[in-house]
Amino acid sequence: MGNKITCVYKMVERCNINCTYCYFFYGGDESYKQHPPYASLETTQQFADFLKKGCQDLNLDTVCIGYHGGEPLMIGPQNLANMCEIFNSTLKDVAKVEYTLQTNAILVNQDFIEVFKKYNIGVGVSLDGPSIYNDIYRLNKQGKSTYEKTIIGLKKLSEGLEAMPGVLCVINPEVNSRRIFRHFVDDLGIKSMDFLLPHAPHKSQEPVSPELYGKFLCDLFDEWTKDDNPNIKIRFFKDALESFTGGYSSVYGRGVNDRTEDIPHLLNVSSNGDVGPVSELMTTSNDIMHTGFNVKTHSLYDLFKLPVFSQISQALSTVPDDCKTCCWHRVCGGGDLVTRYTDSKGFNNRSWICQGLFAFYARVASYMLNHGFCEKEMLKNLGIAVN
Ligand code: SF4
Ligand code: SF4
Repeated sequence: MGNKITCVYKMVERCNINCTYCYFFYGGDESYKQHPPYASLETTQQFADFLKKGCQDLNLDTVCIGYHGGEPLMIGPQNLANMCEIFNSTLKDVAKVEYTLQTNAILVNQDFIEVFKKYNIGVGVSLDGPSIYNDIYRLNKQGKSTYEKTIIGLKKLSEGLEAMPGVLCVINPEVNSRRIFRHFVDDLGIKSMDFLLPHAPHKSQEPVSPELYGKFLCDLFDEWTKDDNPNIKIRFFKDALESFTGGYSSVYGRGVNDRTEDIPHLLNVSSNGDVGPVSELMTTSNDIMHTGFNVKTHSLYDLFKLPVFSQISQALSTVPDDCKTCCWHRVCGGGDLVTRYTDSKGFNNRSWICQGLFAFYARVASYMLNHGFCEKEMLKNLGIAVN
């Protein structure tokens, strides 16, 4: 087990807007309807106690709490501060505590900014590009644009935190990724961004062709490398380049993880304290997401003994059978975990976005080779035997 555990805390299971592509509300798992809208401080304390015991049992020294929703800012600044106090005070003797928070930024105000600063919370803002793209899916409850309000929140954050927060964009393969990049960099001054592939398994495969995902990624990669600006970071690309140079992706479930130590799992904790694998997998099957464990009544040690975590570990450390002969198998790993899933074969399928991923990794490799990266070294890093 690595020394760090990351937990996505769904401390608000409702949202102030209504994105039509939201996997949390519309991904097929409706358990949120049975959960309280807001996690209580009592549940948060039980969660902190669960982590404290888990750190002691498993020799963990760092805990990362990712505040997620729904929309986490609906909890209010004082409750957010109280939650951080609970984690800090409970874990102070056993682990370092880090915080992240993913928000649509609409509710950002000065009180929140003070809390972000006090507890050193790394804030990420969800935005899908200029309003013409963002407002395809990211709509308010009246079906209207959310773009302007998110931009106002983003500006408040950049002024209050004295640094522009990172932005997370869900990939819509039917729009122009170069235009999104130019908007982020030139119009908004964003320096750190990431792009999300759909959290969808084979069974809910979208009618959009996988090749379009490849085109989106290749165009974006070309635009990013054209600028050649080391201050602009795209996590997806940084990870890909790192994997080609023999490292590992920092994204859970992307690329092969053949490290000798155990893989640190990502956990999801619901507002009622239910705990299980990372919520991105909630579109796979109930058996995977719903462990029956709760932070009030179970331990982290016992949670990790559940077969579902062996199944996930096995999937993370191996490539699907169909990918074994693919030249990109080490960097791609068969695609993001959720996109490999089918009811009949679990994670032992190549991603339904395979063709797009193949094109993207080919583009990265060609860029590196054209810029002087040693071919022999690359083949070695890709796990391809060289004489
Ligand atoms: S802001 Fe996030 S949680 Fe809220 S509807 Fe949109 S995608 Fe879902
Ligand atoms: S590009 Fe396709 S075949 Fe190759 S590892 Fe990725 S999913 Fe598998």
